[in-house]
Amino acid sequence: MRFVIDHDYHLHSNLSPCAQDPLQTPENMLKWAERNGLKEICLTDHFWDEDVKPLNGYLSGTYRNNGYAQNSKAFPLPQSEKTAFHFGCEGEMDFAFRIGITSARMKDMAFVIIPTTHMHMRRMTVPEGITLEQRAVLFTHRFNALLNSPILPAGRTGIAHLVCSLIAPEHWEDHLRVLEMVPDSVLYHQFRRAKERNFGVELNIEMKKYSSEELQTVLRPFLIAKECGCKFYLGSDAHTHAELDRAMENFHRMVGALDLSEDQKYHPSFGEV
Ligand SMILES: [Zn+2]
Ligand SMILES: [Zn+2]
Repeated sequence: MRFVIDHDYHLHSNLSPCAQDPLQTPENMLKWAERNGLKEICLTDHFWDEDVKPLNGYLSGTYRNNGYAQNSKAFPLPQSEKTAFHFGCEGEMDFAFRIGITSARMKDMAFVIIPTTHMHMRRMTVPEGITLEQRAVLFTHRFNALLNSPILPAGRTGIAHLVCSLIAPEHWEDHLRVLEMVPDSVLYHQFRRAKERNFGVELNIEMKKYSSEELQTVLRPFLIAKECGCKFYLGSDAHTHAELDRAMENFHRMVGALDLSEDQKYHPSFGEV
């Protein structure tokens, strides 16, 4: 049975500082999900725990003033009979590969996603003047740090947008060059570990932006993940209502390109919230 498009576990409301769309409210997101037959969605606004000091005392704007007090303003999340709405977050790791969520706060998150590819935030995640080769090394280190983090819970942790252009944001081609530098052997090792830890692999590829040749580069990690027996979930990463409207078509394209079946779907436990 083909992978059914029935969820989206990476969504931002306008509580995220980079999501300014007044239409991007939990109520509108729930209505969108219902219209499109999604049974479960999860709010994952950017989050950096007030109780974690970043290594050099610096947080990028994306993660400033996004502690629990701010993000929980979304409570109570609207619910419907057709669609369950969960509360989670998109966390981050700093220069020292330390994740900005305390173990205590993790209990309040039904699902947590960690992006290893936010490599556009100078001073917080990447040093100045870093080369593409160094970015390939950093990509690997950050992914390893996620996979080995003792605080991330099995069954409700997602690996967010692993191939996005933020890996090397200066020129469009750059993130493709960086991805090409990461050997298959490293990715096999990493995805075996992801399976072992029961972390989900987020499907988030802007399919329309790539030529068929470029698609080979961005699909490679996912095909390796599939071979390693990893499970996948859909994440639109929509920051605006217009992005939500485009999400369903992209979901279908990704599932088709990777030829995923329903038994390859990640089902988060959503913890005890
Ligand atoms: Zn992100
Ligand atoms: Zn996001």
